Amino acid sequence: MLCSARALARRAGVLGSSQARWAGPTQRCARLQARPCQGFSTSSSRPAPLPPVVWLVLRPISKFMAVLFGRAYRKWWRALPHDKRAVFKESVQRNRKRIIVVSTAVAGLSLHYYVSHLQTTPVTGRTRFVAFTPEQFDKISQEGFDQMIEEHGASVLPAGHEAYDAVVRVANRLLAANADLDEVHDKDWSVTVVDDEDLVNAYVLPCGKIFVFTGMLEFCTSDDQLGCVLGHEMAHSLLGHGGERFSRAHLIDLMLILPLAAIWAFLPNDGISAFAHWFFRTTVGLLADMPHSRELETEADEVGLRLAAKGCFDVREASAFWAKMALRREMEDGVSPEWLSTHPADEARRESIDRQVPDLQRTRDLCQCAPLPDRDPRAEFEQFRQRLLEEKAAARALMATPLTKPDAARSGG
Ligand SMILES: [Zn+2]
Repeated sequence: MLCSARALARRAGVLGSSQARWAGPTQRCARLQARPCQGFSTSSSRPAPLPPVVWLVLRPISKFMAVLFGRAYRKWWRALPHDKRAVFKESVQRNRKRIIVVSTAVAGLSLHYYVSHLQTTPVTGRTRFVAFTPEQFDKISQEGFDQMIEEHGASVLPAGHEAYDAVVRVANRLLAANADLDEVHDKDWSVTVVDDEDLVNAYVLPCGKIFVFTGMLEFCTSDDQLGCVLGHEMAHSLLGHGGERFSRAHLIDLMLILPLAAIWAFLPNDGISAFAHWFFRTTVGLLADMPHSRELETEADEVGLRLAAKGCFDVREASAFWAKMALRREMEDGVSPEWLSTHPADEARRESIDRQVPDLQRTRDLCQCAPLPDRDPRAEFEQFRQRLLEEKAAARALMATPLTKPDAARSGG
């Protein structure tokens, strides 16, 4: 959408204030310029009556209570004489209507809570459950930011450092190009670069704090690659994935209280119950948590690429980046199957990006970006990969060649 009056007013606020707590090495990304690019729509969210602290406390308590209640029930039932068991069963039978009414009321209230906290994602319009308002979750993530600064403080690069300036330059280009998104103005953007060459990582907290490790800066060979990476990470923040992930994890844990309590109540002993508990939770993780996580990653890939395309970055570099990442993983620690991972497979991401490139080129055209250069980074990386594989095959062949025995060499000479 084009910039609204509200967005312009917010922009004035963003430019005019400085709330960043870390005033030294981190810095608010400056100037958000409006660009007449289209293609995104935004939506608002509903308030949450439950404060986040309730959810934070409920989760660990719920697991503990399920185990405690289940075990206590099993022990109590076993110790109960046969005639008392019959009395108990009869009592349940007599009160079954009340039990049904209470259960239905609890289920109805839970359903009402769930439905009243459904919202649509900005940009993509997907329906999801979120227990927090963005403001509440920003507050939680601000605390996370303080912890990270405490953890990495000694390694944070100062403003004016070449690496820091590179990240600020790329981040500002992304923000300026996407100033037509309301969510861009709702964040307290800042950049923190951590000097850790071994860590190829970057992330953006839900409140807009951008963290980049120097290992990632070494891995990215150009501003275009860094733009695609930061576009993906900013998309997580703009789409509110942190709050969604957190809410869903808590909701699933609450829904598992009864089945887990039943496992501990009705299985014969603690050992079998513990194994069944682990198996059940792992299965839920593989069938519910992992696919949802991959769905969010794919969504952040798609939106991040559009953010990058609007910033006139060469989006083909994202494909080259993931091809490089796939090669790195293959050579270092092997590739684990996608269904066991919270992220889509590198190769699948690369193929998906390649499919989106024609659309993204149209977005670039709409934003009046300069035409993409003739050199295709994907083809260049593929040539590099082929060369590397040939060298590896040649080295293997050399290693397999039997050495000439010293005696034979002497008699031959
Ligand atoms: Zn991600």
